[in-house]
Amino acid sequence: MTSQTNANTPTTDQIRRAPKVLLHDHLDGGLRPGTVVDLARETGYTGLPATDPDKLALWFHQAADSGSLERYLETFSHTVGVMQTRDALVRVAAECAEDLAEDGVVYAEVRYAPEQHLEGGLTLEEVVEAVDEGFRQGELRARENGRRIRVGALLTAMRHAARALEIAELANRYRDHGVVGFDIAGAEAGYPPTRHLDAFEYLKRENNHFTIHAGEAFGLPSIWQALQWCGADRLGHGVRIIDDIHVRDDGTVELGRLAAYVRDKRIPLELCPSSNLQTGAAASYAEHPIGLLRRLHFRATVNTDNRLMSHTSMSREFEHLVEAFGYTLDDMQWFSVNAMKSAFIPFDERLAMINDVVKPGYAELKSEWLFRQTASTSGSAESED
Ligand SMILES: [Zn+2]
Repeated sequence: MTSQTNANTPTTDQIRRAPKVLLHDHLDGGLRPGTVVDLARETGYTGLPATDPDKLALWFHQAADSGSLERYLETFSHTVGVMQTRDALVRVAAECAEDLAEDGVVYAEVRYAPEQHLEGGLTLEEVVEAVDEGFRQGELRARENGRRIRVGALLTAMRHAARALEIAELANRYRDHGVVGFDIAGAEAGYPPTRHLDAFEYLKRENNHFTIHAGEAFGLPSIWQALQWCGADRLGHGVRIIDDIHVRDDGTVELGRLAAYVRDKRIPLELCPSSNLQTGAAASYAEHPIGLLRRLHFRATVNTDNRLMSHTSMSREFEHLVEAFGYTLDDMQWFSVNAMKSAFIPFDERLAMINDVVKPGYAELKSEWLFRQTASTSGSAESED
């Protein structure tokens, strides 16, 4: 007989259908391989390492997996390279929304750096408007296919550049037009977020929201700066907070001051397991800090980071976690509600997404075992007759 616990362990199909919430996904890290090939041809981009979509997909995955930062960064030079026209941006954004919806994502915040899409002569404003149009088109097409998704944009400034304030102002200007917040990304080493204090202080004065890539490759000082100097609402990754958590031999746990602060203040951690494995922040899914962070009730969320480079999706991330930690539909719901609570859209809309979309979706999935059991019981009764 199927036990309740086993019935609650999601199948691959249930994981895909479960309503998922995504807070950390890069637009230039999630293109369809075939689209990269198409856009390169259309825009005259000649730098691609392969023009067969399957071979190109494999190349992206292997380059990201190689352990070489140089090769990893090269992958983005190609995706960004083909995203320099209005049409290209609209298409990539629309397909992003469609692909996420197809994967069962109901709410996503997708980020990109407008300053990286100016080589074809677009202005920052034109970039933001093209991506927004793409997201709206994708939402519409998903709806036509019977799927509902809402996508908001996060505008990213690059840590090594000096345009953070300008991008923060751009995010603020478009906050009622599809942009829900701001982010800062790029190599952590040598580029502390405190370099961009003016941008963060500006956003705080405007009562706007931002997340900061911190505590991925770099450790606790980066997380501490992002929170206590810059005032980040969320941590992009934040996985190294584990360095401030000590598990004693008897299994009891001691939190350092920073880890305790992060947990007490319910600071959302945008954890990206597959991406962390590729950058060496964890050795395997089973050893990924998300297991301990979930047990300790940190505000942990599950994210994709770069779907193309990491050959992943929200469903794949959850498949890995279900396998590594035995997570159930209740765990998936917990992560999804955590993410929805941490989104940058208004409180009443977050609450409605949780109560009207996320929870009913999981309740439906959790009830399926009852009907499977009824079906098999009536089936066996029939055969006995
Ligand atoms: Zn990221």
